[in-house]
Amino acid sequence: MSYTIVYDATELVTGPARRSGAEQTPTSADDPIVATESDAAIVASDGDVVATGASDAVRREYPVENAATAVDASGKCVLPGFVDCHTHALFAGDRSDEFEAKLRGKEYQEILAEGGGILRTVRAVRAADEGALVEGLLDRLDTMLAHGTTTVEVKSGYGLETETELKMLSAIERAAERHPVDVVPTFMGAHAVPEGADADAYAETVVDDQLPAVAEQGVAEFCDVFCEEGVFSVDQSRRILAAGADAGLTPKIHADEFANLGGARLAAALSAASADHLLRSTDDDVGALVDAGVTPVLLPGTAFGLDGEYPDLAPYRERGVVPAIGSDFNPNCYARTMGFAATLACVGVGMTPAEAILGITERGAAALDRADGRGTLEPGAAADLVVLDAPSYRHLPYVYDGTLVETVLKAGEAVVGEQ
Ligand code: ZN
Repeated sequence: MSYTIVYDATELVTGPARRSGAEQTPTSADDPIVATESDAAIVASDGDVVATGASDAVRREYPVENAATAVDASGKCVLPGFVDCHTHALFAGDRSDEFEAKLRGKEYQEILAEGGGILRTVRAVRAADEGALVEGLLDRLDTMLAHGTTTVEVKSGYGLETETELKMLSAIERAAERHPVDVVPTFMGAHAVPEGADADAYAETVVDDQLPAVAEQGVAEFCDVFCEEGVFSVDQSRRILAAGADAGLTPKIHADEFANLGGARLAAALSAASADHLLRSTDDDVGALVDAGVTPVLLPGTAFGLDGEYPDLAPYRERGVVPAIGSDFNPNCYARTMGFAATLACVGVGMTPAEAILGITERGAAALDRADGRGTLEPGAAADLVVLDAPSYRHLPYVYDGTLVETVLKAGEAVVGEQ
């Protein structure tokens, strides 16, 4: 039997200390959230974790000298590979000038009114060659992987018409085939209302034209909607997500970011995989999400980029639920790394380092409906793991420049370091 062993790890994080969910008793910030072992080893074979435990015992059964690959992790921490459950990582163009304009005092709404913002990215993506989109995404996936992300969700939504939405999903599929990172494709034709269009009429074209073509293409796994004042109403969002579900796409929703329209309630009613942003959600909204088994996703990078408010953690802590943390990487939130997302989850949202680690691993996998042990290192789970050049998981959010990620294994194969 051919195997990979990572041995003598100062700390090994295998996943949640107990499953996060509604049935659990409330936690305090001091509760152990992640399960850790010290002086530990982990063995992968055929892509999956086959053993974890005390290094001495594991090494007796799986000798280092017989391993196909052996990683000495003394002084280091081993974590599950990071799962980034919310990105808009496929785009074209450069909006760094808008970053400067905002610093000079221009409001995003003004930028949008002048044809900038998301509509500028839409024009750039419509004009882009599919091959160039693939290359751009591959570059970004390289950066994400080097910083420990082994699974990433990528949304369409810069086409806003059938042909370009299909081009985006096809580019996502082609990049995924060429890259070790697992890429989860989401259709988001309802990301914005196109220039000059009426939201209600456009929602109908998403349902009548885009969704059937997307279903026929067969790439997308989820359907997402931006339910927000001035974008799509709850009724329009419901129509689109219900039609998406009929076409086999699991609902996700951008909910309650700037205004509380009832997006979180809609996510609960539709049993969405996740509800994301949730800045304006009430305590009752969070209760409805948790009761319905919807994974809440917080995106602290967005708040950081907009110099805005961070979400309140109290409604989650009261219910013993740890929200997932996504990067929201997009041209308006240029943050590709989950280490930085974890730092913002701690400094901005007030999560403990253990909660943040869970947010970017097992919780992220839950937001993507992955029930395959992903985001954990329990036996049977995919052997996606990160070796940090630091003795504990606490260093990941604590060190917020550069990267501590030294080695990444994807399905048991070294894809960063140790190659
Ligand atoms: Zn988003």
